[in-house]
Amino acid sequence: MVQHTTIVGLREAVRSARAAGRKVGFVATMGYLHAGHIALCEAARRECDFVVVSIFVNPLQFAPNEDFSRYPRDLERDLGMLAAAGVDAAFTPSVEEMYPEPMATRVSLPTLSHTLEGAVRPTHFEGVATVVLKLFSIVQPDIAYFGQKDGQQVAIVRRMVQDLRLPLEVHVVPTVREMDGVAMSSRNVYLDAPARLSARRLLQSLHAGRALLEAGERRCAAVEDAMAQVLRVDPSVQMDYAAVVDADTLEPRDAVAGHVLVAVAARVGGTRLLDNLMLQVDAHGVRDLLSAP
Ligand code: AMP
Repeated sequence: MVQHTTIVGLREAVRSARAAGRKVGFVATMGYLHAGHIALCEAARRECDFVVVSIFVNPLQFAPNEDFSRYPRDLERDLGMLAAAGVDAAFTPSVEEMYPEPMATRVSLPTLSHTLEGAVRPTHFEGVATVVLKLFSIVQPDIAYFGQKDGQQVAIVRRMVQDLRLPLEVHVVPTVREMDGVAMSSRNVYLDAPARLSARRLLQSLHAGRALLEAGERRCAAVEDAMAQVLRVDPSVQMDYAAVVDADTLEPRDAVAGHVLVAVAARVGGTRLLDNLMLQVDAHGVRDLLSAP
């Protein structure tokens, strides 16, 4: 694996790979890698011949009161994990390399960005879409891999790719979980033992929503209430939302049907955690939109 810290160097490596007829896969990360990130790398390894992984903690997607400066970082360990996963190129630019002067450009998807996470973090997805488009322009991958764990991010990236007719495919990889069911996240290191126990409520809440759907309930509000109740019984969990929305538009619905994102977010011991299920709900019942490979 070769580490590139400059845009020019990475572009040259991708150009040579492409000239040799290799299909380019790309995984964007903020580092402090775990098995969830590695699942994305493995999917890329299976489907592509040249895998690029970026590690960049993107200041544009953090609000001033958020954890940009204390976001966990361990580049040496990350590079070891990527090499072991068979990644070809690690792109690890500095903030100065990515943003040598303040960016005047922003990519914004207003209808998708201000709901769910966006209601709590109003500038977050503008920062995400801007850096993802910039990374796509640098890497020019054939396939880009994103985790289901960030369900709203998936909807936003897919829509940006569709709207701008970017010449790449977006593949989504199912959420990788800890043994206790908690979705893997770099931010889980912030959780102490009691907070870690309370973090399990998120998946329990999703399971309660799913069980109600499987029992035939189709009123969104009823499913959302059942999910919220599971979060509210735990005083250490401050719920931000428990929502059932259209998986593509993220719009709320009265009745659950088709592709839906069942999503929860809460603060546990000061740390914001997210989780979701992507479901197909129809007359035949309820099934996962994604299944583990
Ligand atoms: P991050 O480093 O948190 O920006 O995440 C980089 C990529 O890894 C994103 O596409 C995430 O959705 C994905 N990811 C993070 N956690 C998980 C997980 N537990 N399972 C699957 N993918 C994940």
